[in-house]
Amino acid sequence: MTIGILGGGQLGRMLVLAGAPLGIGFKILDPASDAVAGKLAPLLCEDINDVPALLWFSKNLDAVTYEWENVPVQSAQYLAERVPVFPPPRALEISSDRLVEKSFFRENGVPTPDFAAIETRDELEDAVREIGLPCVLKTRKFGYDGKGQFVLKTARDVDKAWEKLGGVPLILEAFVEFGREVSLLAVRGRNGEKKFYPLVENHHEGGILRLSIAPAPDSTPELQLEAENYASTLLDKLDYVGVMALELFQCGGQLLANEIAPRVHNSGHWTIEGSDCSQFENHLRAVAGLPLGSTKMKAPCAAMVNLIGSLPPLCEVLKIKGAHAHFYGKEVKPGRKVGHITLVAENEVDLKTRIEAAQKLACGS
Ligand code: AMP
Repeated sequence: MTIGILGGGQLGRMLVLAGAPLGIGFKILDPASDAVAGKLAPLLCEDINDVPALLWFSKNLDAVTYEWENVPVQSAQYLAERVPVFPPPRALEISSDRLVEKSFFRENGVPTPDFAAIETRDELEDAVREIGLPCVLKTRKFGYDGKGQFVLKTARDVDKAWEKLGGVPLILEAFVEFGREVSLLAVRGRNGEKKFYPLVENHHEGGILRLSIAPAPDSTPELQLEAENYASTLLDKLDYVGVMALELFQCGGQLLANEIAPRVHNSGHWTIEGSDCSQFENHLRAVAGLPLGSTKMKAPCAAMVNLIGSLPPLCEVLKIKGAHAHFYGKEVKPGRKVGHITLVAENEVDLKTRIEAAQKLACGS
């Protein structure tokens, strides 16, 4: 079995690593000649919009998946006419436009922050009045890790927000005073079977994920079930195949959906050592039409600390009890995700100590 992956970053690389023991072969399509998955599997270095390249890429593949959510929907659709593409291109279409995505949540009974579509400055002024302050103006497309966003705190911010983002389709959202951010990693097989990992608590800085803790401390079975029900509805509605991350804001006992990622996700990296079957293996099992693996945790708790902009000495990482290093082989650049550390522990006290040690290395390297 050979699976094609659109995008050859660290997610593609970890998919290749998970697929090797299953005997799955890979082919990667990425415009960057130094794409890190390309060090482990054949890389076709071409523009992802290029039709002849897509045709060439699709040859002798059993299925295609993707590791970017900004894969052009047309490219995924073109491939889907030749080879099964999972997750379905419709998931890509929905997740690549914040307005379409939030409307899809609403239509399917998944609560979201209040939102409105914005095309003009007048619409922005009206929507700010309607939704209230504070609120967040976001570009509908191509926003990630907090990019393409402006938080409006006073009515005077309308001008500044419009100056910064006006001119492209936008969405205005109520600013949620959430208690914390959580995510649910879910997987659905080709036969409709579904499995869910425990809810994860996520901490961001500057819009970039820094730390994930699993299971989310003080999570309850009710909260887990609520998140699973939302994810389940969305997965079934899309006839989804593969891993999907549902990112949520928790406000007291209530969950509000922020977005979905139709792919393996940074907040699920801890599953490599923390779960019976990792998100990467389960994604491949789903895409390949194989039985899904157990999503149970191997240890009572786990965490993931991202390494951003620098790598600590490997030896120091491995000195931390319960730590596993994942260095992606990427060129180190400011603000770039270049690796992560997984931590597993028997209890929350040990986990906290290990997280602190890993965070010290992540900052001090
Ligand atoms: P996003 O690009 O939509 O994932 O947003 C990046 C980060 O901005 C999120 O992880 C939140 O921390 C914050 N954020 C996004 N939307 C909202 C919102 N409506 N209310 C409060 N914070 C938000």
